[in-house]
Amino acid sequence: MMGARAMETTRELESTSIKYQIGGHAEKMWQRLKGILRCLVKQLEKGDINVVDLKKNIEYAASVLEAVYIDETRKLLDTEDELSDIQSDSVPLEVRDWLASTFTREMGIVKRRPEEKPKFRSIVHAVQAGIFVERMYRRTSSMVGLAYPAEVIVTFKIPVPNLISFAEALEVGYSKYKNPYHNLIHAADVTQTVHYIMIHTGIMHWLTELEILAMIFAAAVHDYEHTGTTNNFHIQTRSDVAILYNDRSVLENHHVSAAYRLMQEEEMNILANLTKDDWRELRSLVIEMVLSTDMSGHFQQIKTMRHTLQQTEGVDKAKAMSLILHAADISHPAKSWELHYRWTMALMEEFFRQGDKEAALGLQFSPLCDRKSTLVAQSQIGFIDFIVEPTFSLLTDSMEKIVMPLIEEASKSESPAFGTPSQNSLGAVSNAEAQRRPSFKSTSDGGTHTENSLATVDLMSFKDNLMKIIQANKERWKELAVEEELVKNVGEQEKDQGRNSTDAQLQEETTRTQNESSQGSDGTTCPPRSIVLQVVSFDTPLSDESNSEKCTNSDPNQKDLTDAQQETQNTDPLNGEPKHCKKTEDKVKSTEQKEALIQN
Ligand code: AMP
Ligand code: ZN
Repeated sequence: MMGARAMETTRELESTSIKYQIGGHAEKMWQRLKGILRCLVKQLEKGDINVVDLKKNIEYAASVLEAVYIDETRKLLDTEDELSDIQSDSVPLEVRDWLASTFTREMGIVKRRPEEKPKFRSIVHAVQAGIFVERMYRRTSSMVGLAYPAEVIVTFKIPVPNLISFAEALEVGYSKYKNPYHNLIHAADVTQTVHYIMIHTGIMHWLTELEILAMIFAAAVHDYEHTGTTNNFHIQTRSDVAILYNDRSVLENHHVSAAYRLMQEEEMNILANLTKDDWRELRSLVIEMVLSTDMSGHFQQIKTMRHTLQQTEGVDKAKAMSLILHAADISHPAKSWELHYRWTMALMEEFFRQGDKEAALGLQFSPLCDRKSTLVAQSQIGFIDFIVEPTFSLLTDSMEKIVMPLIEEASKSESPAFGTPSQNSLGAVSNAEAQRRPSFKSTSDGGTHTENSLATVDLMSFKDNLMKIIQANKERWKELAVEEELVKNVGEQEKDQGRNSTDAQLQEETTRTQNESSQGSDGTTCPPRSIVLQVVSFDTPLSDESNSEKCTNSDPNQKDLTDAQQETQNTDPLNGEPKHCKKTEDKVKSTEQKEALIQN
C-alpha cells in the first residue's frame, strides 16, 4: 500500500519534471513547488516522516517559494523599468531576457538597486529547488528499491542553506570589480574543469572525499574578489593588499583569506560539520592549492613535479592537487577555438584596462597591457608553447603515474568495476579515506558497476585529444600572427609616411617662403589602406568547419576539456550573459574595427 503511494508520488514528480522542460520559466518553477508540496503531503499521509525532517522540508519549500517570488518580482520590475514598451506576449521570453541583460547594462540605463544580487542568483535558486526535489525524490524512491546507499545520505555534511548563502556571497565577490576575465564565469569554468579532470583521469579514485571537496572548494574560491589587476600592479601601486601580504602572492593570499572570512559568518559556514582535524586538513590543502595559482611560481612548480615523477616513491597529494588546479586555471587553450579565443580576448581586455590605469598613473605599461601595441596572437603562441603545453604534458604524465597502478591493482583484484578504495601511493590512509566510497549503481543482471569508475578511464585518449586541441589552437594563432605582423608593418609604414609627408610639408613651406614662389610638394601619398585583417569578433567565430556545431552540441565521444564546457559554452565570458552562437561568414575588418571590438 505504502509502496504504491510512493510510486504514485514518484510518477507525479516525473511528470512535474517533464513539464519543467516544456513550460515557461515561471510555470516550471511553480510546477516544481507544486511537486514539492504534493510530496510533503504524501509524506504526511504515510505518517512515517519524522518531525525534524518535516520541519526542514517545510523550511526548504518556504525558501524555494521565496526565491521564486523574488525572482519573479525582480523580473516584473526590470520589465517595467527598462522594457516597458515590449509586450510580454509578443516578444519571446528569451529575446526579452537578452534585451534586458545586454542593452540595459551596457547602455547604463539600469541603476542597480543596492540590494540587488547579480543575475546569476537565479542559478542559485534553481540549485536550491533542484536539491529539494532531489531530496524528496530520494526519500520516495528509496521506498521502491532505487536506494542510494545510506552512507551517501549520511556523508553529505554541508548544510544546504549555508551552501546557498556562501555561493551567493562568492558570486557577489566575483562580480565586485566587473572584470572581463576574472569573474564568476571564470570561477565556474575552473571549478567545472577541475571536476572534469578528476573524473576523466580517474584521479578521483586516488583522492579521499575530503580531498575532492578541497579541490572543488579551492577552485570555486581561487580568484575570489580578484581586482582585475596583477600582483605586480598591486606591488607597484603599493595597494592595501600588497602592504598586507608583504608583496607575496598578494591576490592569491587575498582570495583564500577573504573566502575563509566569509565562512566566519555562521549562516555561510559550509564547513560547520567537519571535525577539527578534517577542517584543518582541508584548510591546509586549500591554502596550498590557491597559492599555487600564483603564476610567478609556475616554473618552480613544474620543475618540482617533474623531479617527483622521476623518483620511485609516490606523488605528494597536495602537489598533485595543486597541479590539477593550476592546469584547470590555464585550461582554455585546451578547449574549442571559440571558447579559447573568447577567453583570451577577455583576458586581453582586462590587461588593457590595467594598461589604461598604468598610463593614467604615469607608470610603464606592464607586458601585454598596452592596447595599442600588444601582439595578441604572438603572445598566445608563446603562452601555449612555454606554459600550457608543458603544464598539460606534466599533468597527464602525473595522472598516469598515479592512476595506472590503481587500474592494474583494481583489475587484478577484480573488485566491482574497480571501485574498491585502495591505498594511495603515499601509503597514507586518512580518516576521510576510510569514508571514501565509489558511486555504485545496481544493474538489472544483479551485478554492480561504478559510474565514472576506473574501468572507464582512458588516459591515452584524454591526453591525445588535449594535445590535438592545443596544437590546433596554436595553428589558428599562427595564422592570425601573420596578419598581425602585416598590420604592424603597415602601421609602422604609415607612421614613417606621416613623418615623410610632414617633412615634405616643412620643406615646401620653407621653399615657398624663401623663393616666394609656390611649389607643390611631390604629392607623396600614403600607401592605400589595402591591407585588411580577418578578425574574429566576440560574436563571430572565425570561419570554422565545426565550431557552429560545437556551439550547441559537443561530441559525446570527444574526451577533451570542451565537454566540460556545456554550461559556459554559450556564455559570454566578458559579462556572463548568454550568447547565441551562430555560424557567420568571416568578417573583414580594419585594425580600428578590431580594436573597437576588443574594447566592447
Ligand atoms: P589566474 O589569475 O588565477 O586565473 O591565473 C591564470 C593566469 O594565467 C592569468 O592571470 C594570466 O596571467 C595567465 N593566463 C591565462 N590565460 C592566458 C592567456 N591566454 N594568455 C596569457 N596569459 C594567460
Ligand atoms: Zn583563475
